[in-house]
Amino acid sequence: MESVSRCDRLLVLFSLLLTCVLPGLGGRALAAPGKGGPVLDHSRAAVRQYGEVREFLFELAKAYPNNAKTFVLGESDSGDTIVGLQVGAGKVNQVVVATHHGNEYGSTEVGLGFAREIAARPIEGQTVYVIPVLNISGYNRKARRESAGGVSYDPNRNYPGPCGTEGPFTLKSTRALAKFIAEKNIVSSATLHTYSPAVVYPWGLSSHDLKTGYESIFEGLVADATRESHYATGNSTELIYPADGTYEDYAFHQHGIWSILFELGHSHSPSTQNIETMVRANVPGIRRMLESAPSERAEKHAFAGKCDRSLISLDRHDE
Ligand SMILES: [Zn+2]
Repeated sequence: MESVSRCDRLLVLFSLLLTCVLPGLGGRALAAPGKGGPVLDHSRAAVRQYGEVREFLFELAKAYPNNAKTFVLGESDSGDTIVGLQVGAGKVNQVVVATHHGNEYGSTEVGLGFAREIAARPIEGQTVYVIPVLNISGYNRKARRESAGGVSYDPNRNYPGPCGTEGPFTLKSTRALAKFIAEKNIVSSATLHTYSPAVVYPWGLSSHDLKTGYESIFEGLVADATRESHYATGNSTELIYPADGTYEDYAFHQHGIWSILFELGHSHSPSTQNIETMVRANVPGIRRMLESAPSERAEKHAFAGKCDRSLISLDRHDE
């Protein structure tokens, strides 16, 4: 009995140290990832509703009050509030956004797994905004598209693009994200989808002119992102297919944001075990990519090539 109570006293002292003393030393997280934070049950991934996602973010903010707080991105056309987690207090602002496509719940789980990791251990010098679900009504139905005014749209063809778009901005969710990355002066962005597997960089549009002029930086970032996953890396159009009006090209074209697209795993319907593997293989890479990204946006970012709209017939609308 005596040893138990002594142990209890030690635990109390240790948690006092954690909550009162050490956060003063720069507010860095102290708990190792996976210890102390809320548990994420990936077996619910295929049936999870958005309420659970939001609840998980609130729990993370509660578990790591010195590191994380929730924020509202905006309201979607379904009337839902799009919630994200803001982590850290650094000067460089980064964004990780998942689930443009509501059926790609594997990307949601990786987004939530990343939120959990980063809430426990923020990145020095950075503030990271994690938005696990952008397309809420699609996510609740596990459907790719999002509806507005009785019409459904592909959210990741809904941004203005130099070679075309299926929008632009016919959805409140995409408009809210565009406004957010401009206002927050976001420097780097990871957008999460399923599946391929591949991690790619701009341009991803309908053109034969696919060079941004920043190939060596982008190649470094995707190499950092895939050290654990060993996913294929390269240019988006070459490795996936051309698509006009995507978020990832918009972020770079409009602002010079270091914009990386993750096509995670091998299926739109990953098993619980597949998801656990995806989270383990990609969360460290997303973190490393953000850590090693330049601290300022790219200077020359407008698309200067020639569009070839005939290529858009290759857009399969399935990734
Ligand atoms: Zn997708």
